[in-house]
Amino acid sequence: MKRQHTISATASVSGVGVHSGKPASLVVKPAGEGTGVMFVRSDITDRANEIPALATQVTTTELGTNMTNAAGVSVATVEHFLAACAGLGVDNIIAELDGPELPILDGSSKPFVELLERAGVVAQTAPKRVLRMLKSVEVKQGVKFARLSPADGFTMNVVIDFATTAIGRQAISFTMVPGAFAREVAWARTFGFAHQAEQLHAMGKGLGASMDNTVVIEGDRVLNPGGLQARDEFVRHKLLDVIGDLFLAGGPIEGLYEAEQPGHALNNQLLRAVFADESAFAWM
Ligand SMILES: [Zn+2]
Repeated sequence: MKRQHTISATASVSGVGVHSGKPASLVVKPAGEGTGVMFVRSDITDRANEIPALATQVTTTELGTNMTNAAGVSVATVEHFLAACAGLGVDNIIAELDGPELPILDGSSKPFVELLERAGVVAQTAPKRVLRMLKSVEVKQGVKFARLSPADGFTMNVVIDFATTAIGRQAISFTMVPGAFAREVAWARTFGFAHQAEQLHAMGKGLGASMDNTVVIEGDRVLNPGGLQARDEFVRHKLLDVIGDLFLAGGPIEGLYEAEQPGHALNNQLLRAVFADESAFAWM
């Protein structure tokens, strides 16, 4: 039997949000069995400031996964932190944030993996709660699709396709086993296109983006002086986003995820479609 996990101590990390450009400190604390991942906006004290990391709390998925509670309190760009929790098997954790958006740090999940490792991941007593797929559920958006089907373990097959030869068509198959996330996925950085920067800034987004936290592509070139960490860093980052987004199921998934050009919106639609069909899944 697999047990639930939390962290054994408090740890923190600080940085700016990639879209807001605003600084924030993230403080992670141990949480009791059955808590799940609970965000707390510590800078807001005049109303309910807790936001559980659940698909039903997701309010916008443009350029990141953002959540809001019933009191209108939000937390933005949660996916890279959630991916680290999923990748390290952390079920229960308090994530206190003193600003509107999680820090982007180096654009990957690696700093969050290091944060959780500093805090120490420890087993609790209660059995782990796993969402087991019982039948196939699919959502589509033109040529894009995302599907969850019954399978043992948790395997993800992700394909991306970009016109620029800097990316092209990339595919990855990844099975979640202990150690694999940190080794194969966590370090993959977020990416963006130079020609979109101005448009983003006009929308008040991407204000914290720089080559310190984003792989920047212009035409068919990667502009970052250090280049890529791997030729397929792009699809690995897309996989990282999927892992974070799917953790909003409220626990780890047992099933097969397959997707062509997935994004935060499609992943959230997929979880909502799963939960809309009670015969599609069971909590084990
Ligand atoms: Zn991402």
